[in-house]
Amino acid sequence: MTSAMTPSLTAPLIDPFARAITYLRVSVTDRCDFRCVYCMSEHMTFLPKKELLTLEELDRLCTAFIDMGVEKLRITGGEPLVRRDIITFFQAMSRHLDSGALKELTLTTNGSQLEKYAEALYATGVRRVNVSLDTLDAEKFARVTRWGRLPQVLRGIDAAQRAGLRVKINAVALKGFNEEELSAITSWCAERDLDLTWIEVMPMGEDIDPANRIGQYWSLKDVRQAYEDHYTVTDLAERSGGPARYVRLEESGQKIGFITPLSHNFCESCNRVRVTCTGEIYTCLGQEGSADLRAPLRASSDGEGLLKAAIRAAIGDKPKGHDFDYSRQEVGGQMSRHMSHTGG
Ligand code: SAM
Ligand code: SF4
Repeated sequence: MTSAMTPSLTAPLIDPFARAITYLRVSVTDRCDFRCVYCMSEHMTFLPKKELLTLEELDRLCTAFIDMGVEKLRITGGEPLVRRDIITFFQAMSRHLDSGALKELTLTTNGSQLEKYAEALYATGVRRVNVSLDTLDAEKFARVTRWGRLPQVLRGIDAAQRAGLRVKINAVALKGFNEEELSAITSWCAERDLDLTWIEVMPMGEDIDPANRIGQYWSLKDVRQAYEDHYTVTDLAERSGGPARYVRLEESGQKIGFITPLSHNFCESCNRVRVTCTGEIYTCLGQEGSADLRAPLRASSDGEGLLKAAIRAAIGDKPKGHDFDYSRQEVGGQMSRHMSHTGG
């Protein structure tokens, strides 16, 4: 029986700082067909398959969160579309869209498999997709992704748009790499009716040299300044409950997003948590602390009581914010794990 002091299993998830948790990002694999230089080392050791949650376990996990008030589900990785049979998982999740419990089912992808899966994704109720793309130059693309090929990704973006998916391009701002492409990428997005968001590079992955990382860091304050050299830039009040801030370029009418974990703190409005492909929950991308959901998931049965209690306990420990800081020309708050582990 539920006492007056104990929230029912399905009560909304509210963290200690009164933030309602309505957005779940789930990494369905740590594997990827690319090796982006800021994300992975060239020779990664991936988890043995038996460590991963099965698709059925991922379904139970996401369903438990949806029961507890999660309304937006983003599937990520690693590269989510390289997970075998992933479309069956999207198909299963579409029942929560049909019931109205889930408002949005979406994914972040490198685009390499979109040509193959765009139509199937649309059929499961996905309407928007984030595609990561840092450069429009094929040679630079091969350099930054190590294993990626630009034409394949461009075909994927075309296929997504043909299928009816709204595409947002996420570009990591990298000093000395895509600085001079700001205008080209922006006009390319305008011509193709693609949304565009810039992301600051974050200190993830202990095997990525910190000195190199600072070299890569191109503050979005400077990106914004670069826009001001070419456009009239108007700040927009709009927030998506997440870290992105938006501006409008008056000349093109484009809305551009900035995700600035380093030059601007966004934690006060954080509504999200992340779960890895092994069932660890990270309640803050920028803190090391995590809790295991796989054991309670595997021990739960009817009603998922143990799993839901473990989710609630983890949210009860959600930190106030992250500690990333480059302001003293050294990497503060460096995280040992890779972005592909928690899913970006
Ligand atoms: N493979 C998919 C993709 O690339 O879109 C999904 C996973 S990837 C880890 C998600 C996002 O994290 C990508 O947009 C990628 O550019 C970003 N990312 C990876 N490492 C990063 C880092 N160190 N700093 C900032 N963004 C990073
Ligand atoms: Fe793969 Fe995405 Fe990481 Fe690039 S950013 S290596 S595509 S997981």
